[in-house]
Amino acid sequence: MKFTQPKLPYAQDALAPIISPTTIEFHYGKHEKAYIDTLNKLIEGTEYEDMALEDIILKSDGKLFNNASQAWNHIFYFFQFNPDAFHEPSGALREQIEKQYGSFEDFKKQFEEAGVGVFGSGYVWLSKDNDGKLYITQAKNAENPMTQGLKPIMCFDVWEHAYYLDYQNLRASYLHKIWDIVDWAIIEMRYEN
Ligand code: MN
Repeated sequence: MKFTQPKLPYAQDALAPIISPTTIEFHYGKHEKAYIDTLNKLIEGTEYEDMALEDIILKSDGKLFNNASQAWNHIFYFFQFNPDAFHEPSGALREQIEKQYGSFEDFKKQFEEAGVGVFGSGYVWLSKDNDGKLYITQAKNAENPMTQGLKPIMCFDVWEHAYYLDYQNLRASYLHKIWDIVDWAIIEMRYEN
């Protein structure tokens, strides 16, 4: 098997009550695992077998793209959380957020609204371009902003499997509460690299 599912950097109950252990059990344990398992099956014996995951995403479409991108997106999503994290950005990222959105509070509001506005399954992404400019974008299904030449630095998964067990239909509540577990040190690192 080419790609392996990375272990979570925290305990299964560490994100509760924002994200429950049951949601982790299904979202990480079943959904993420299934994307990675399917990806491995699809690339076996093909030209994609020895490619980096990012290259597969950029060069594939259809079922392979969906599973490769979902594998990447979920690893990225689960690694941005830490229950004991700093709850606000600092440094260059903070400055850029305030420059473009006025304040951190206004940025959060816009990001939540973008997430609420995704029709059906998808993501709200925060990305940067080569000049460090930030972009809040909505994505359908498995879409990832790297296919538009941007560098993703944060994503909130708004597929129902990400929140339905904990918030039922209240996607806005999930998006509002999830800030409490975002590890801004990781988002800053992604921004600065
Ligand atoms: Mn998901």
